[in-house]
Amino acid sequence: MAETPPLSIPSHARVVIIGGGVVGVSALYHLAKAGWRDCVLLEKNELTAGSTWHAAGNVPTFSTSWSVMNMQRYSTELYRGLGAAVGYPMNYHVTGSIRLAHSRERMQEFARARGMGRYQGMALDVLGVDEIRGRYPFVETHDLMGALYDPADGDIDPAQLTQALAKGARDMGAAILRFTPATGVSRVNGEWLVHTAKGDIRCEIVVNAAGYYAQRVSDWFVPYGGRRVPMVVMSHQYLLSEPIAEIEAWSREVGHKLPLLRDVDVSYYLRQEKGGFNLGPYERNCRAHWASPDDPLPEDFSFQLFPDDLDRLEPYIVDAMARVPLLGTAGISKVINGPIPYAPDGNPLIGPMPGVPNAFEACVFTFGIAQAGGAGKVLAEWVTEGATEWDMWSCDPRRFTAYADQDYCVAKGMEVYGHEYGMQFPHARWPAGADRRSSPVHDRVKALGGQFGAYNGWERANWFAGPGDDLSWEASQTWSRRGPWEARIRAECEAVRDGVGVLDLPGFSRFELSGAGAGDWLRGMVAGGLPKEGRVSLGYFADQRGRIQTEMSVLNHGGDRFTLITASVAQWHDFEWLKAHLLPGLVLEDHSGLRDTLIVTGPKARELFAAIGDADWSLPWLSFQNGMVAGRRCDLLRVSFAGELGWEIHALHEDMPAIYAAVLGAGAVPFGMFALNSLRIEKGYRAWKVDLSSDYSLLEGGLERFVKLDKPAFTGRAALLAEQQRGVRKRFVTLKVAAGDCDAPYMSTLWHQGQVVGEITSGAWGYRVNASVALGMLRADLAVPGTALEVEIYGERFAAVVQEEKPMWDPANQRIRA
Ligand SMILES: Cc1cc2nc3c(=O)[nH]c(=O)nc-3n(C[C@H](O)[C@H](O)[C@H](O)COP(=O)(O)OP(=O)(O)OC[C@H]3O[C@@H](n4cnc5c(N)ncnc54)[C@H](O)[C@@H]3O)c2cc1C
Repeated sequence: MAETPPLSIPSHARVVIIGGGVVGVSALYHLAKAGWRDCVLLEKNELTAGSTWHAAGNVPTFSTSWSVMNMQRYSTELYRGLGAAVGYPMNYHVTGSIRLAHSRERMQEFARARGMGRYQGMALDVLGVDEIRGRYPFVETHDLMGALYDPADGDIDPAQLTQALAKGARDMGAAILRFTPATGVSRVNGEWLVHTAKGDIRCEIVVNAAGYYAQRVSDWFVPYGGRRVPMVVMSHQYLLSEPIAEIEAWSREVGHKLPLLRDVDVSYYLRQEKGGFNLGPYERNCRAHWASPDDPLPEDFSFQLFPDDLDRLEPYIVDAMARVPLLGTAGISKVINGPIPYAPDGNPLIGPMPGVPNAFEACVFTFGIAQAGGAGKVLAEWVTEGATEWDMWSCDPRRFTAYADQDYCVAKGMEVYGHEYGMQFPHARWPAGADRRSSPVHDRVKALGGQFGAYNGWERANWFAGPGDDLSWEASQTWSRRGPWEARIRAECEAVRDGVGVLDLPGFSRFELSGAGAGDWLRGMVAGGLPKEGRVSLGYFADQRGRIQTEMSVLNHGGDRFTLITASVAQWHDFEWLKAHLLPGLVLEDHSGLRDTLIVTGPKARELFAAIGDADWSLPWLSFQNGMVAGRRCDLLRVSFAGELGWEIHALHEDMPAIYAAVLGAGAVPFGMFALNSLRIEKGYRAWKVDLSSDYSLLEGGLERFVKLDKPAFTGRAALLAEQQRGVRKRFVTLKVAAGDCDAPYMSTLWHQGQVVGEITSGAWGYRVNASVALGMLRADLAVPGTALEVEIYGERFAAVVQEEKPMWDPANQRIRA
């Protein structure tokens, strides 16, 4: 083990990282690599004392999230060369892995991951049943459909990995203080003081990398605007078997270890550990620890484990013995039962600490060994550049807002752990943690057949079921658009096309901006112009690189007063983006959730409002006014994300039941989020963090008409000007796809003459245009109407044609302007 020379507490550092697990140390290494050497890591015990020391050390690349796959891929690439780069050799076995499939849907999931993996430069492969035993001779295959082979998978010694990163960081000048717990923080004159028993360290930036202690550390930041980290600690066990002669002999003969085996439909991993096995199940009847007042988090748990609890694992052990019968020939030599933190969606928290200046999080890692390399890179980019190379919303701490309280975290953490390898089907809803926030008309929506999903904790109907619809969990376990919802979504879209529909949309994020000079300031934030008084327009916000940060509807009330409306999930992200740049004297308030919203849209919308409302229904598209509906006061915005004539009604909660009842009574047909998704894709309207991600610039995103490069100054202007001069690499396109039963999911690859030339960002069936429609990013030279491409959808390629650069539905916007 590399010895640290005795270090006294420095009085100052640029960054202090709290926590010396693999993640904190990787963050330190990457900061030092970026030239930030004046950084200090505090570890309360010895490095790795938290979850890291006992981790199994599996290093998969597989993920169905593009960004998480990117992070894990980067880790494998880093780990391969790390020992040599820092002069600290370590045990890293790149054995490859085999994921077994028991169903057609699982094979489709694998095919999709293969497509994404290949796009990232990895040679993932789908194996037929006959090919599995060629790679893994000891496995029973009679009941399988196939497998996914990941050649980059393997296992690493977590302690050696941490020490190698620590050596690299120290060699570059960073400091690691072991046996030095941080005990609190204070903010003095715009700097942090991190307290320790040995003295205080003054620093610009603090990083919470405290593993399963992250919640406790986050509590120190609450007085400075922070919140409790949303997490729960689960217990995870793996067991090690005695050596097995056949395995030892096989390994000797072929000169390498068996690939790592994952039976994801049953829910365990099985790895060769020396001459025996390491079996690690994610059991359904799992156990959360330290999650209630009668089971408090201990002051110190360094290098400790929970007592074994093999009863919970029994069905999985029995299954694994049937799958690899050799496992049953050996006794168990050791059981490891350790704490593992879970965020409510199973992804870690990496990025700015919500609400707190100059503080970041790199914690709540469920797969911290596999992700530490990439996480260190991402964290260092956040700290040193304020932006990351890859869009990392999947791991951004701001994706959980105030709804994610402890009960929610426990419920979701248990659900995610128990379905660690579960498939994320587009029409399925995981049941735990539902009903955190509901609209004032929730019960009415439910009574109408609403099938809900959660959006920033708000329950919204995804679709409306009718009598006899199969609402079982099993019916939702498909990638296909076909299912009980299909006929309903079609009818909902047709109602919006031919008559009028209503969608209850609680939880829009809504910010109020005012103060002398508010307009001038906002003009410097958005890339385009501002709306005139009484008008609404879309404002696009770029970062310094010209990349898309967000999109908001801007309402100009006159007198330097504006309302900014943005996606529900964007609430904390967007508020912080504005707040971070706000000029003194301006007032910005978060009014999200204070009002409820209905979208009322369709060619008969005006008739409907004329019957139940009192306002000037002749005001044009992109106007707003205060008016009355059903005798209640409300704001009426003449916009429609569905692309038809329509208004958004924004009203106080207490007024919404009467308004909703009147809208329904006047003949509006309820429609849901799935219909809205289909309708907006037909119009080429982009969705935040799907089509509008920071992976793309505003120009790549095809948003030129919202960019005024002739404006004197706005964030990102220089970068966009430079990009305009050299030309964009990729361009946003709409595609008509000759799809089968499945529409193109996020990050399906686009092919042209045998090469991958782009990716899909959204896809859905368009019921008005009667075709599968996809939005995506395509190599700029091919982004020409009429170009014939292929889209790879769950492993199969389908013909696709680039459309004109205008909406497929109502290209001249006549219906919306009507
Ligand atoms: C049985 C088991 C098997 C696992 N197997 C795998 C696997 O195969 N692959 C994989 O990728 N992941 C695996 N994991 C998960 C993995 O162990 C964690 O994701 C990872 O170790 C998290 O690293 P970390 O640095 O975030 O946290 P930790 O390793 O917990 O480090 C946090 C550190 O912060 C320190 N600290 C806390 N409070 C303070 C303070 N106030 N001041 C100073 N220091 C403080 C702690 O002492 C600790 O050392 C496994 C987990 C378990 C339980």
